[in-house]
Amino acid sequence: MELRLYNTLTRQLEVFEPQDPNRVTMYVCGPTVYNYVHIGNARPPVVFGVLANLLRRRYGRLVYARNITDVDDKINQAAREQGVPISAITDRFAQAYAEDMAGLGVEAPDLTPHATAHIPHIIAMIERLIDSGHAYAAEGHVLFSVASYADYGRLSGRDPEEMLAGARVEVAPYKRDPGDFVLWKPSTPDLPGWDSPWGVGRPGWHIECSAMAEAHLGDSIDIHGGGIDLQFPHHENEVAQSTCAHGGQVFARYWLHNGLLNFGGAKMSKSLGNVALVHELLTLHPPEALRYALLSAHYRQPLEWSDAVIEQSVRTLDRLYGTLRDLAGVPATEPIVPVAVESALCDDLNTPAALAELSRIAGEARKAESPIARASLKAELLGAGLLLGLLQQAPEAWFNRGTDAGDDARIQALVEERNAAKASRDFARADGIRRQLAEEGILLEDTPQGVRWRRA
Ligand SMILES: [Zn+2]
Repeated sequence: MELRLYNTLTRQLEVFEPQDPNRVTMYVCGPTVYNYVHIGNARPPVVFGVLANLLRRRYGRLVYARNITDVDDKINQAAREQGVPISAITDRFAQAYAEDMAGLGVEAPDLTPHATAHIPHIIAMIERLIDSGHAYAAEGHVLFSVASYADYGRLSGRDPEEMLAGARVEVAPYKRDPGDFVLWKPSTPDLPGWDSPWGVGRPGWHIECSAMAEAHLGDSIDIHGGGIDLQFPHHENEVAQSTCAHGGQVFARYWLHNGLLNFGGAKMSKSLGNVALVHELLTLHPPEALRYALLSAHYRQPLEWSDAVIEQSVRTLDRLYGTLRDLAGVPATEPIVPVAVESALCDDLNTPAALAELSRIAGEARKAESPIARASLKAELLGAGLLLGLLQQAPEAWFNRGTDAGDDARIQALVEERNAAKASRDFARADGIRRQLAEEGILLEDTPQGVRWRRA
């Protein structure tokens, strides 16, 4: 089975062949940590996390890096507003990001490089670009000369005129060409800064990713991923910097871009005020349903984000976990990845097809009668779930979600009090407790093993 991926660079589906099958490399642009992230920022880690699972399954050895941008003017502004050093902001929100992603079932990448830990790498790369005539220093800045790289614009498929019109480039007296972009900029004493051959300053955003990819993954990487909103200028600039710093060697062999989230028909952005922070969503909805919803559309398509999508995901997971609960007595075997699920993912990460297959297998499992068929379908459900990052909790945990252990203990105590009331023939008290629990949405069931309770 071949893995085919849509390569933005060539604008076609290509069979994925790693440079070195014993060390597949993937870099995904991570967050700028100055605030909680919105749900749109969670799509790349979720979808590229599934790709990472698939690559590990197929090749064994994957080195996956997702960076943290911890020096940026938005961070500086937040630090100034709050009167704290930038590290107070970046430490806090890098941690919040890690927690949000864990909440969505995203496994941590192998490497999480931070920009501020790579300043010597960044400076060394800029020096190489200057030495090779691709960059120049001017008034404390260092700029990349776009005219020095003939393929500039190839990744985003734009000609230079359009790029200038679309990017609202800053015209500055120290630029030779308005399209030239900043590799290094000077810092005043109130801003974070590092010593460099060009004075105290800080890196531009694009050079970070080029330097960190080089430091951890090498000059030429297999897969570079990120949101389509980063294609230009961020990724275009990464290509220019890395290719020129490496004597023309290909920087990333496969470029993958995910589509954006739409929110009520309008592109999600903070300026529209329709922020949906992951941090908040995780308290309002079952986290696994948010993950399911993010995987419910093909990654390259826009995803219409709405409460309806989340509710539909909850209902689907109710059915899937309900099936697993029915199979609770079936002995668990090793998880099996169904061929149809793997082949859907190998078809440019077709997660909607993989999820449809999951529901189909669950349907078969509900109808299956022989113990062997039930065991193997259960193993397939769990195996497919493992690859997709779904169905890994106990069914009871899914159905009793959103509750804390203290509340469970309180309910259990009421159930026991009701049992005692019945035993002592205090039926008024027993009925009172049943009514109270019913009002809270707690259903009681008499079973041969005693009274069980569940949330409706
Ligand atoms: Zn990047």
